[in-house]
Amino acid sequence: MRGTILIVEDNQLLRDSLTYNLRKQGYTVLSAASGEEGLEKARREKPELMIIDIGLPGVDGLEVCRMVQAQSKTPVIFLTARGEETDRIVGLEIGADDYVTKPFSMGELLARVRAVLRRTRALAAGLPTAEVIRARDITIDQSTHQVAIGDRQVALPPKGYELLRLLAANAGRVVDRQAILDAVWGEDFFGDPKTLDVHIHWLRQKIEPDPHEPQYILTVRGVGYRFPPQ
Ligand code: CA
Repeated sequence: MRGTILIVEDNQLLRDSLTYNLRKQGYTVLSAASGEEGLEKARREKPELMIIDIGLPGVDGLEVCRMVQAQSKTPVIFLTARGEETDRIVGLEIGADDYVTKPFSMGELLARVRAVLRRTRALAAGLPTAEVIRARDITIDQSTHQVAIGDRQVALPPKGYELLRLLAANAGRVVDRQAILDAVWGEDFFGDPKTLDVHIHWLRQKIEPDPHEPQYILTVRGVGYRFPPQ
């Protein structure tokens, strides 16, 4: 799932190049050439992530970040030309999620964007950022995407993996259908909600000893699904 990114950068060449490269990756990109414009667009468009140049004329990047984060938890990646340690520390203290020092490679920035979005989406979905999730006798290694039941390795397709990870991380709690669709398929999911039932069915075939009497993926009728408490 791709999201909306707002770039605040006064250097037109860099702004255009970032816009082009992020769009190529499928993100919706908005841009602003000044802090004032950035603040206005942030308020109006509520981007999922902001990339902010620290050195802006007028309201500088740090101030933009402070003002945005006073109202929302929008993650921020700073672009800094200065590279001095103090700038970095100040940047991170005021709640930036990451920064890159100019000049940087586009590949490096894209990797940071992916990492920050992954982290913030995981937190929003109630997923732990810990590497390994353990629930009952299921172990999910988030770094290798390996799933084991007891000591048996189970190969799951990507959506099955995401579903199990979400439910196991919330063991004992009901996760409602919309929250599952948002977390696994993305907020831009417009498909048939029955898709979820189909994937749950496949997941049960893979992990349940008896898919007709599930022990791991329990249905909470009319609401969603629940992994049993520990
Ligand atoms: Ca600048």
